[in-house]
Amino acid sequence: MSDHYDVVIVGAGFAGMYAIYRFRKQGLKVVALEAGSDVGGTWYWNRYPGARCDVPSLEYSYGFSEALEQEWDWPEVFSAQPDILRYANHVADRFDLRRDIRFDTRVSAVDFSEEDNVWRLTTEAGDTVEGRFCLMATGCLSVPNTPEFPGADRFRGEVYHTGLWPKDEVDLSGKRVGIIGTGSSGVQAIPELAREAAHLTVFQRTPVYTVPANRKAMRAEVQQEFRDNYRQIREMQQSNAGGVSNFRPVKSVRGRSGQPAPPPAPSAVPAAEPVAPTADSTGILDLSPEQRHQLVRERGLGVLLTFREAYVDLEANEAANAAFRDGIRDLVEDAETAETLCPTTYGLGCKRQVLDRDYYDTFNRDNVTLVDVKANPIVAITETGLSTSAADYELDVVIYATGFDAMTGALLRANITGRGGRRLADKWEHGPVTYLGLALSGFPNLFTVTGPGSPSVLCNMLVAIEQHVNWVGDCIGYLREHGYATIEALPAAEDEWVAHVNEVAEGTMYTTPSCNSWYLGANIPGKPRIFMPYVGGYPRYRQRCEEVAASDYEGFQFR
Ligand code: FAD
Ligand code: NAP
Repeated sequence: MSDHYDVVIVGAGFAGMYAIYRFRKQGLKVVALEAGSDVGGTWYWNRYPGARCDVPSLEYSYGFSEALEQEWDWPEVFSAQPDILRYANHVADRFDLRRDIRFDTRVSAVDFSEEDNVWRLTTEAGDTVEGRFCLMATGCLSVPNTPEFPGADRFRGEVYHTGLWPKDEVDLSGKRVGIIGTGSSGVQAIPELAREAAHLTVFQRTPVYTVPANRKAMRAEVQQEFRDNYRQIREMQQSNAGGVSNFRPVKSVRGRSGQPAPPPAPSAVPAAEPVAPTADSTGILDLSPEQRHQLVRERGLGVLLTFREAYVDLEANEAANAAFRDGIRDLVEDAETAETLCPTTYGLGCKRQVLDRDYYDTFNRDNVTLVDVKANPIVAITETGLSTSAADYELDVVIYATGFDAMTGALLRANITGRGGRRLADKWEHGPVTYLGLALSGFPNLFTVTGPGSPSVLCNMLVAIEQHVNWVGDCIGYLREHGYATIEALPAAEDEWVAHVNEVAEGTMYTTPSCNSWYLGANIPGKPRIFMPYVGGYPRYRQRCEEVAASDYEGFQFR
């Protein structure tokens, strides 16, 4: 006998947690199945040194409870992983979420039974759980990617992945550490690892454009100003392409220094909505290369993110890229290392913007070596280290900062089978196809959260998550009210939506031929090259979702 629920939720990260709260409030019987041993998702798994949010925490936080907004203190403006995990735990305690979560429970199959219109989920332990509805809150960046290097299982030292970092403290002192990967995770970890290890060797395949994060302690008066204005701030998030309000705590900043508020920090999110204007609104092509270089010297690399045109115009983009390289050459003392750190094969705006603390400066340390594994690829992991085509490196610890099978990875690994025994893996053979990034034709009553085809990772994810869960909750309410058993996306609506998603991505830096990002699936060998998130902006997307609901779910069929 299976346990039966109104909704079975897979995942207890921020999406699954909010879904429990929201659906319970509607009177639904829910359960969440979570592979990890506790709540928090991303922030439960990614405990690597330096892990940190790139959206201000006062914005990267739930907006569903005013009491929660008023009571939670954020110690820093951009919180570190331990503080975000503490917040997730607080939310779980405060709203008593754990009583509806089964931890250490990985879902290995999700099957639709047409006989009784029920989703039947099987766990790795062999248990089954049934639900009228299924919500896949499985995360966009929850399946770590570990490249298969020959000999990897022979290595006698310690091996870690940033996305599966142990709960117990990892002691790297006195050790020779090698890290593979220089995306956001690698860039955050490298300066911290360099401070701790005897020697750090960084194996870099593609250099990154990274700018310093605006890292600051939270000031009580700034937090208070947010609290005083939270309803307005949540409204502002709803009309911003990246789901961030950019609210400036003018009163408290003025009150302290007598000066107007400073310009907003460069944030990774405005990659979706590039960006605040420069002080004088001069375009990058109005400046000579020397002037651009001078601007970077005066204001740092982050200033290059403020040129909106660099995200939509190739010439402006190349001008910004060249100025960025000039900036790197200023920061890194060894000329050869500086050149290796200069991105040349793709432009700013192709990948998610990376933010760092002391990244370039780390390569000026005596105990750090940069190895270019594009020029000399990794050929093997040995018993005692790692070999490239040019040299052998003796290591005590190998760290993979090699990213994730993003957006589709967790959904495909859950082995979802819909109507007529159709597998999601077959439906998505040539890349993900969804309606609004929320629903799938052939898979009635199953919903995804922040799935491919929705703004998702191009948005402040907490905002995107709440919007999705609310939409799904309302939809389930509608079905119950009208006595329908199932709702299912129509193939034509799905095709139209996918065409729209592709159309808005065309002509952006995200899809230039030189761009190879995980947004495109390009980090996973053999994965179809499709731009997965919706780049049309969160407000436009939200409006479309609202229109669909208001029109009695146009593009869906009911039974
Ligand atoms: P997750 O937090 O990924 O949770 C999904 C959960 O589902 C996981 O706990 C997983 O164990 C579980 N699960 C998956 N498959 C199964 C299965 N088959 N059976 C059972 N359980 C399963 N976003 C931002 O907006 N700003 C940031 O600054 C930011 N920083 C990030 C930093 C890192 C290091 C990473 C990896 C991501 C970051 N993100 C950021 C994106 C982040 O993933 C989201 O902000 C958010 O935490 C996602 O919440 P979620 O609940 O949707 O997914
Ligand atoms: P990532 O951006 O995909 O970076 C993975 C790195 O590993 C890249 O440098 C990649 O090189 C390298 N790599 C992969 N396979 C390799 C191989 N076989 N050999 C050598 N190098 C290899 O992954 P990530 O750094 O974990 O970040 C993923 C996303 O998580 C981010 O974009 C962001 O959305 C989120 N995140 C956010 C933050 C934050 O600041 N808040 C922090 C961490 C993560 P190539 O580029 O050549 O493929």
